[in-house]
Amino acid sequence: MSDYQHRARKRFGQNFLHDAGVIHRILRAIHARPGERLVEIGPGQGALTEGLLDSGAHLDVVELDLDLIPILQGQFAERDNFTLHQGDALKFDFSRLSEAPSSLRIVGNLPYNISTPLIFHLLDHAHLIRDMHFMLQKEVVERLAAQPGGGDWGRLSIMVQYHCRVEHLFNVGPGAFNPAPKVDSAIVRLVPHAELPHPARDHRQLEAVVRQAFNQRRKTLRNTLKGLLDADAIAAADVDGGLRPEQLDLAAFVRLSDQLPPLHNGTPSENHV
Ligand code: SAM
Repeated sequence: MSDYQHRARKRFGQNFLHDAGVIHRILRAIHARPGERLVEIGPGQGALTEGLLDSGAHLDVVELDLDLIPILQGQFAERDNFTLHQGDALKFDFSRLSEAPSSLRIVGNLPYNISTPLIFHLLDHAHLIRDMHFMLQKEVVERLAAQPGGGDWGRLSIMVQYHCRVEHLFNVGPGAFNPAPKVDSAIVRLVPHAELPHPARDHRQLEAVVRQAFNQRRKTLRNTLKGLLDADAIAAADVDGGLRPEQLDLAAFVRLSDQLPPLHNGTPSENHV
């Protein structure tokens, strides 16, 4: 261990876990085994890293803050199941780590400011991922796990549930962190579906429909989808255009997106999430 005292940086979303009970509970939920391929995003000062390495799994960690690199190296470089990558997880190519389907287990107490884009980035590699365990803002976990009909159901719930089964595991109060965040947190498990339950003809089109539908969530679908789908197309999808977007389930959004004319192959999506 070095004598260096790291000061938590807000811009990197640094709230370090210090509650041994919470750390233990998270490690139990992950239940890593020898031979597995784990990836920790944002290891920080190693609160979860130690226990993950003790499991005997191989652990790749991706940390952005240059000041934390020597601390992590000092603590873990001698472990032969540890690989450190300095860089931005948002730009990290996870397919570098494994090309085997459903092989990667991703974990992290995520920096809350990048959690949504990071989840979308990881979903681009969903076929390589066996599961993901994240600490997130509780409000975000509630949106991920939401069901149709409520105010939490929206673009994040739909696009994540398109790819994954979502389990809200448990909540964590601010006192478990140093410094304490202003919000409550929660642990979520995301498990990519082996087969998509509602496959869209083109997921970029599903993204486009969902994004436009929820731009004005108080309006009816007939109004909010203007310019994308007309009344006939909405009816052909077997959807009532008088409903509001939050009343529609994932399958109905997929039927709507399948009414759009096919995109030309290779056309870059203008509606990238
Ligand atoms: N895992 C540690 C813990 O539980 O105490 C630290 C968690 S802290 C909430 C988030 C960590 O993610 C910090 O170490 C921060 O430097 C790192 N981080 C922030 N942005 C990142 C990014 N874009 N890519 C990789 N790591 C990032």
